[in-house]
Amino acid sequence: MSSLPSITSAASSIVTLYRAPWVVPVCSPVIKDGAVAVSNGRILAVGRNCLLQAQFVNAEIKNYQGVLLPGLVNAHIHLELSAFTDIAPPASGQSFCDWIRSLLQVRQQGHLEPAELARVAGETLQQQHATGVGLLLDIGNVLPSTSASLVTFLLELLGPTGKAEEQVLARLAALPDTVAATAHAPYSTTAGIMTALKHRADRLGHVFSLHVAESADEIELLGSGHGCFRAFLEERDAWDHRFPVPTLESPGTVEYLDHLGLLAANLLCVHCVHVSEKEVQLLAAHNCKVCLCPGSNRFLGSGIAPVELMLRHGLLPAIGTDSAASNVELDLWREMQILHEDHSQVSAALILSMATIGGAQAIGRDHDFGTLAPGRKAMLLNVDSPALQEAQDGGQLLDILTGSGRPESIGWIEETAEIGS
Ligand SMILES: [Zn+2]
Repeated sequence: MSSLPSITSAASSIVTLYRAPWVVPVCSPVIKDGAVAVSNGRILAVGRNCLLQAQFVNAEIKNYQGVLLPGLVNAHIHLELSAFTDIAPPASGQSFCDWIRSLLQVRQQGHLEPAELARVAGETLQQQHATGVGLLLDIGNVLPSTSASLVTFLLELLGPTGKAEEQVLARLAALPDTVAATAHAPYSTTAGIMTALKHRADRLGHVFSLHVAESADEIELLGSGHGCFRAFLEERDAWDHRFPVPTLESPGTVEYLDHLGLLAANLLCVHCVHVSEKEVQLLAAHNCKVCLCPGSNRFLGSGIAPVELMLRHGLLPAIGTDSAASNVELDLWREMQILHEDHSQVSAALILSMATIGGAQAIGRDHDFGTLAPGRKAMLLNVDSPALQEAQDGGQLLDILTGSGRPESIGWIEETAEIGS
């Protein structure tokens, strides 16, 4: 059981005890017949039901079936791409660049009105919340017309040439500080733009998220200056001989970012499929954050991120769905299931940690969210299914939670419902 609150704080406010057959705090072992004591939207204590009832004798008790756990965190999504569900993955003989061509073509055709794109984005956000996602990091090229308290939005900027850099830096200088901005990827964004955005993120205290080492083609570009990205940039008249990067000891996106001085605790490296052990060590040494997108990587045939290596070096990745343009389903439960399939040596407890506290750390909100622990906000999720009801112990429960896909029943505890409003 967690530490006792002071007598005065417990006595001076209304306490509710949320009780369920299973409580999964994430930061501590699974509790059978557990409870969470909540007051004023904050968690006071987490522990066995009998102990908490003795501690909080005047508490209102609310009983739930199944499991109580912290809300999930989707650390990488592009809500504005939610309508683009018809883009096929690269066929045999095609590359990652062919998928980007298809996406750009569909976006530039502009068949869908901005209002329709916004409507579908809003629907997707509602679906995310309804399926247990309590926080999202949303990356977009267009400022959303509405904001939601569960969404952290980053405006994504990019420009592959010196000329584009001038324009982007001018736009950045005019951008109000209320808009958090970030960069797309090293292959699409000059070092000057990435550095300016990183410095701005440092000044404003927000996350600097970047697509990193998603495809092997990116490493080829950095190392040799050739491959599909060169052709892609040349056909857009955007090749200005920035690659290969001559100062790299070995070609790698993280090494490139290190060379630019961008590795830091507020850097969120999304994908990290093609990273060496030395690069994983670099990420860990700088306390960088990593976001895995296993469903998107599978869809695009990008490869499988070295998750075991990351864990061995002390990194706890977050998990993201990426967008509807590169994933068949935007479902964090499915992402956990894919991690199970791809990494049989990684425990269910660690996979659930990635989908909760790993995500909260990645987006800089772990002081409030990601675990059920005293002092945290009571973002409590209640899930249930016939399979979960059959669990004999905490280990089985975690295996079912993370390895079986979305539970049949998902609901938010009433006290925290406004988080998704
Ligand atoms: Zn993405």
